[in-house]
This record gives sequence, C-alpha cells and structure tokens, in this order.
Amino acid sequence: MLKKLIIANWKMNPSSLKEAENIWKQTLINATKAKNASVIVCMPYTYLYLAKKHKTKKIILGAQNVFTETSGGFTGQVSVSMLRDAGVSTVLVGHSEVRKDGDTNEIVNTKINLLLKNKMNAILCIGENHRDHNGFYLAYIKEQLIESLKNISKTQIKNISIAYEPIWAIGLGAVREASVDEFIEIKIFIKKILSDMYGNTIALNIPILYGGSVNPQNSKLFLAEGGASGLLVGRDSLDPKKFNLIINS
Ligand code: PEP
Repeated sequence: MLKKLIIANWKMNPSSLKEAENIWKQTLINATKAKNASVIVCMPYTYLYLAKKHKTKKIILGAQNVFTETSGGFTGQVSVSMLRDAGVSTVLVGHSEVRKDGDTNEIVNTKINLLLKNKMNAILCIGENHRDHNGFYLAYIKEQLIESLKNISKTQIKNISIAYEPIWAIGLGAVREASVDEFIEIKIFIKKILSDMYGNTIALNIPILYGGSVNPQNSKLFLAEGGASGLLVGRDSLDPKKFNLIINS
C-alpha cells in the first residue's frame, strides 16, 4: 500500500519556542507509530533547529516557502541551501497565503526549478478563490498548473506533489471544507492536465493532495472516498491530538 502524505503547515504558529517544542515532541511520538502515512512538518524557519535537537527519521522536515535567489542582498529571505542545511527536504510552493503577498505562477515556477535543481521536493499548492457557475475556476486552475510547471521535465515531475487547496476552504476565513465530490472532480481535472503534459503513466503517479479545513472528522473521507494521496493540514496540525487522529485516518 502506498503511504499517504500527511503534511502539517504550522504557518506563523505557535508563538513561543516552548509551545513549538511541545508540539514537535508529541508529533514525533505520533509519527513514529504511524504505519501507512509519511508525515511532513512545515514549521517556521526559527523552529527548524528543533528537528536537530529532537531527532527523528519518521518525520520529513518541510519549509513553508523559499526565495527565488541563491544568495545576496535579499533582506529577510531564506535560500534553498540554507533550508537544506537545516535538514529540510520538502518545500511548499505557491501557497495561497504566499501568492497573496505577490508570488505569481512565474515566481512559483522559478522556485520549483531551484528546488529540483538542488535535489529537493516541492509541494505545489493550487486552488481557486471561489467557484463560479460558468466554470471559470477550472481555467484558473489549469493556468496555475501549466505556468507553475513550465519546463519541468518528465523526470523532475517525480519530485513534485500537487496540493489542491481551494482558498475558500482554507484557514480562519474558510466558508466550508470542499466536499469529497468537489475534490474528486478537481482531482480528475488535474490528472487530465498532467496527462496532457506528461503522458498517462507519469500523470497517474503524481500525488494529488487535498488541503482546506481538514480535521479528524473529514480526513478519512478525503483519503478513502476521495482517493487523495494525502492531506495538507493547517490549524489542526497544531493540536497534536487532532493531528494524530488525522495521521491515523
Ligand atoms: C492551509 O492553509 O494550508 C490549510 C490547509 O489551512 P487549514 O487546514 O487551517 O484550513
């Protein structure tokens, strides 16, 4: 059985190192017991050293973003090599909260290229702002995919997972989570685009994850009925008990 990817996105949380250490230690215990899941934790940069302090091979260390340049006068930015040296192997790119700050598909594409060139993995986040009756959101998603994956080869795509995260389902402003049917519809749509880009066999193997108000009550639905390859979890990844239930689903 292929392991499901369960990704924690802590965002700019928790507010103290003490809390972060506590969440990390509990998540570490829970991830160690997980049988059918690979757990990735994307924590804020300043907490990454916790993974060196409390080591585990059972959690893949992730980051929430990376900069497009490798070094130089870019105040406030963090490079691929800095992340790699901190033990990070997987990076979220194109998260809607980062796109809101200016990341275009072109920038997302540059970041993906940089990560792959440095033997890192990318989780490409895509998703529409709202669903209109004319289906324009489908064209929007198609454009996000095609532009973000420009010039990514058939070999390179093997290091990329796609997370479908409808913006209306994410975070504190969420209207609701997507329904399983809505996820399945988009999953098929994404697979079709990927199949046109990379051929059927490769497209079928590209993981498609769901993110947006995932909780212990709906996680199993997305994984089992929706056939999601994994889940991207924001709020409930900060509560080790809830995150453990999600890992076990
Ligand atoms: C996210 O922003 O990546 C996310 C999935 O958030 P939440 O689970 O809180 O909706």
